[in-house]
Amino acid sequence: MASEQQQQARCTRTVVPPSSRVAIIGGGISGLAAAKQLAAHDPVVFEATPSVGGVWKHCVYRSTRLQTPRPDYEFSDYSWRNRDDPTFPTHAEIVDYLQGYADRFDLWRYIMFGAKVVGVKFLGGAAAGFTELWSGTGEPLQGRPMWEIGVATGGPAGDDNVQWYKFEFVVMCTGKYGDVPRMPVFPQGKGLDVFKGQVMHSLDYCKLSEEETVELMKGKKVVVVGYKKSAIDLALECAQANQGEGGEACTMLVRTLHWVVPSYSIWGLPFFLFYSTRLAQFLYERPNQGMLRSMLCRLMTPLRSGVSKFIESYLAWKLPLDKYGLRPDHPFVEDYASCQMAILPDGFFDMADQDMIRFKRASGWCFSENGVVLDDGTEVQADLVFLATGFEGKDKLRAVLPDPFRGLVQDNSGMMPLYRGTIHPLIPNMAFVGFVESVSNLHTSELRCRWLAGLLGGRFALPSVEAMVRHVQGETAAMQRTTRFYRRHCISTYSIHDSDAMCADLGSRVHRKPNWLAELFAPYNNQDYKEE
Ligand SMILES: Cc1cc2nc3c(=O)[nH]c(=O)nc-3n(C[C@H](O)[C@H](O)[C@H](O)COP(=O)(O)OP(=O)(O)OC[C@H]3O[C@@H](n4cnc5c(N)ncnc54)[C@H](O)[C@@H]3O)c2cc1C
Repeated sequence: MASEQQQQARCTRTVVPPSSRVAIIGGGISGLAAAKQLAAHDPVVFEATPSVGGVWKHCVYRSTRLQTPRPDYEFSDYSWRNRDDPTFPTHAEIVDYLQGYADRFDLWRYIMFGAKVVGVKFLGGAAAGFTELWSGTGEPLQGRPMWEIGVATGGPAGDDNVQWYKFEFVVMCTGKYGDVPRMPVFPQGKGLDVFKGQVMHSLDYCKLSEEETVELMKGKKVVVVGYKKSAIDLALECAQANQGEGGEACTMLVRTLHWVVPSYSIWGLPFFLFYSTRLAQFLYERPNQGMLRSMLCRLMTPLRSGVSKFIESYLAWKLPLDKYGLRPDHPFVEDYASCQMAILPDGFFDMADQDMIRFKRASGWCFSENGVVLDDGTEVQADLVFLATGFEGKDKLRAVLPDPFRGLVQDNSGMMPLYRGTIHPLIPNMAFVGFVESVSNLHTSELRCRWLAGLLGGRFALPSVEAMVRHVQGETAAMQRTTRFYRRHCISTYSIHDSDAMCADLGSRVHRKPNWLAELFAPYNNQDYKEE
């Protein structure tokens, strides 16, 4: 893997050329895909840190691996060297792969490292009504600057260090995760201040070396708050650090249970059969699907819940969920449809069987002097409390967007209203990539960037602002009917249909398999969307 110095030594951007019309904010997977797809516009990528990779560089533990199989987390025009390797890549392998992608397409020349965007001003005029914001035509590039971007390069982001640059179009790729921790709020006298031990968000844990993490946790009573993938990985690392003499158990504080999966095989059948083929996705609701399909979809309810129950029966048989009180009440499909299905790291329940990982259910909790107190009054003693409570990705957008756009980042549903998962109908000349999730976020981001390139290249025009708003509302309603966790903005149960819509906009083939058998039964992934 190239070091940060080696990356810097590559021919990266140091000045913003006056000809540049497109800015990309962020150099993670979404920013890299955007740079590649929008190369014709000589974009400038502003990346706050000294390296590419985003969360894979800055928001991982020692044990973090991709939980998507390699061939599903792959750019359509750049394969993994070892794509047939069945192991899940480590975070270091992913950064290496992304650097290879940047090398292959010489993306370094677009990227300005250590360039943190600290503010964005709208130049489109305050008088414009929202319906005219996209110039009424849906055509974004009209030859006049629409946004001014303030960039801090090195040193504190005081006014002196901020340079302002004008662009016609801005692509926000600042990421949903990392950077801004989500912190629980407590009533007075029950928060962090009363606790005598140490409290750390998982984001800060990511900054420690392997030796430091072991040193931090060994021989300590640790509580991990959360039960998503990061919390599970963290609890396992904690249990491993506490093996042997003087070791202490780690307690996971679980509010909402989620289904966990040991591997991509269910009763001997490959997992993709259940959700990733066109036939499988035919069972699920699509946004704005029309009355006839809605009726058909209602008739297919028993089939959908049958699939979910089949998977649940396997998980309850394979894993000691009942033994530890970890069987969720909600159907599996609701976790799948909200991209919350965690792949279990090896040895997790072995550690639980050795009493090195314990579980406590609590719908509410607070701090006490010596640990945490659950809503039933039980006190769990702790020296160290980890908050694996997630991130506030939208705050990164709110921090830079001006009013009134800042207030539009989230609508009444709590989601970001994005047409084709990319365009906010009321924020002109701006796109958002990486805010909609699927089983492979890389695929979702890359296809959106291709679609965006088509939009900026004039291959199609956006519908009216009203039509986009209606479309987004239809999508939100469909998600709300599919999963109670809809706010995560996940398209996994209708990802093929979602890709179809983008291909249709681009004038590309919608059915991309070689024959109808494959069309129905083979999984769709990024290789199906190679440029024609
Ligand atoms: C621990 C973990 C495991 C995951 N596992 C999977 C998985 O198995 N499969 C999957 O599909 N997805 C997974 N994800 C989701 C993952 O976030 C996406 O797959 C993808 O990497 C997101 O890329 P991104 O470019 O959209 O965002 P990020 O990776 O967050 O990149 C955003 C970039 O923007 C930069 N930035 C932010 N603000 C500014 C600013 N103001 N100015 C300049 N630069 C800025 C950041 O420094 C960062 O480099 C995982 C995420 C995490 C955290």
